[in-house]
Amino acid sequence: MKIHSIKFKITCWYTGIITLLFGVIFLCALWYLGRYSEEAIREELRDETGDLLESFYEDFPDFPMENRTLFFDDGVMLSIYGEDSEFMDGIFPEDFPRDTPLMAGDMRKIRRQGKSWFVYDRKTELSDGRAVWIRSIYSYNSLVTDNLWMLRLMAVIFPLIAVFTGMVGYHMLVKALRPVLIITETANEITSSMTLSRRIPVPMNRDEFYELCRTFNRMLESLEKNFLRERQFSSDAAHELRTPVSVILSHCEYCLEELDLPEEAEDEIKVIQKKALQMSEMVSRLLEISRSERKKDRLEKEEVDLVLLAESVAEELQEKAEQKEITIEIDDQLKNPVILADMSMMTRLFINLTDNAIVYGRKRGYLRIHLLEEEGKVRILFEDNGIGIPPEEQEHIWDRFYQADAGHTRDGNFGLGLFMVRQIVEWHNGTASVESRPGRGSIFTVILPRENF
Ligand code: ADP
Repeated sequence: MKIHSIKFKITCWYTGIITLLFGVIFLCALWYLGRYSEEAIREELRDETGDLLESFYEDFPDFPMENRTLFFDDGVMLSIYGEDSEFMDGIFPEDFPRDTPLMAGDMRKIRRQGKSWFVYDRKTELSDGRAVWIRSIYSYNSLVTDNLWMLRLMAVIFPLIAVFTGMVGYHMLVKALRPVLIITETANEITSSMTLSRRIPVPMNRDEFYELCRTFNRMLESLEKNFLRERQFSSDAAHELRTPVSVILSHCEYCLEELDLPEEAEDEIKVIQKKALQMSEMVSRLLEISRSERKKDRLEKEEVDLVLLAESVAEELQEKAEQKEITIEIDDQLKNPVILADMSMMTRLFINLTDNAIVYGRKRGYLRIHLLEEEGKVRILFEDNGIGIPPEEQEHIWDRFYQADAGHTRDGNFGLGLFMVRQIVEWHNGTASVESRPGRGSIFTVILPRENF
């Protein structure tokens, strides 16, 4: 389904309503002009003629008049005839049939050759006793033209008003909904950088957005508190576990080396020792994570030669790889292999990704570490042809303690490796991602910017 923004929807709604309203007004105007305008014009013509005649009588002693403007007012034209209908003076609209007989009574509508006029004849007596006819004429064509002109004007102005109100309304909505944009952006930044200490800027106006931002900030505050508490808990737990685990290990060692135990008891102790070793490994990882988290804001950056690092990690894990006959190849395409980064963290990143490729690699498989140059960045690919990761698991493998496809997980793996990788990469302002096909292999991609160091 197509998603439209609220701004778009509201703008469409009220522009639609305004257009509808204007449409109704327009139709009413059309109806009114057609139905009532003729009647209104008759009325007006009567009034105008009355006014005109009044001023006409005042000036009549000077008749015939010099001032011919008296014969015309607001589209009404006057002409004067003698008692026997002989034309004396006056003006006529163009094409008006002058032979139209004079006729006392109400207003008439005269039609000739597609044109029409309203005519109003009145017989009156002048002050000197003469009887005269006064004819007022109004051109109906000009009325139609006036109406048409008005309708055309409305037809142009209404859509313009609709477009204008639509644009102004959209602009106002953009302004009014700006806090929503800021909230969304900040929330996205918090999600991508996992910096729960950030807060959403609270708007000055004490409106609904003000309350929303404050509520969000309260939520972030409690999330941050819980997150810190949980982090503190794993760090404390790791610290607390370190001593008992090393005591168990040293006792196991003592029993196995110093005591003459029956074979069965020795086997049992070996199982305890193996599990205690795994536990010790996990405790070390957790302690390493909490140490890294503490120093993430002040990384100890130094020159790290990525080629040398890849080679030394490959060498370190060579024996493990050989057990599965996995070959490790390094494909160096870097112009400059040196970046500024935290050495211990980079080492952990290479170890975790290389180790995973061996652990989840197939027998007689391969791991290819590609070191590629990109504009202002280095792109590191860890490509294996191992078991791969099901698509639905791929977004979760970066979570703490998450292990995809439990059936394939191995002893000594705790679901912390990729969590550490992503944290290290983010602390270095980079990105980490995976492409994988079950049964075909995986490519883990790490991108690290050069200039930010
Ligand atoms: P673990 O300690 O279990 O290896 P990680 O965080 O390193 O934890 O990895 C999380 C999960 O991602 C693993 O349990 C595994 O299922 C999957 N995974 C990681 N790397 C690979 C890989 N190269 N090939 C296949 N699956 C992998």
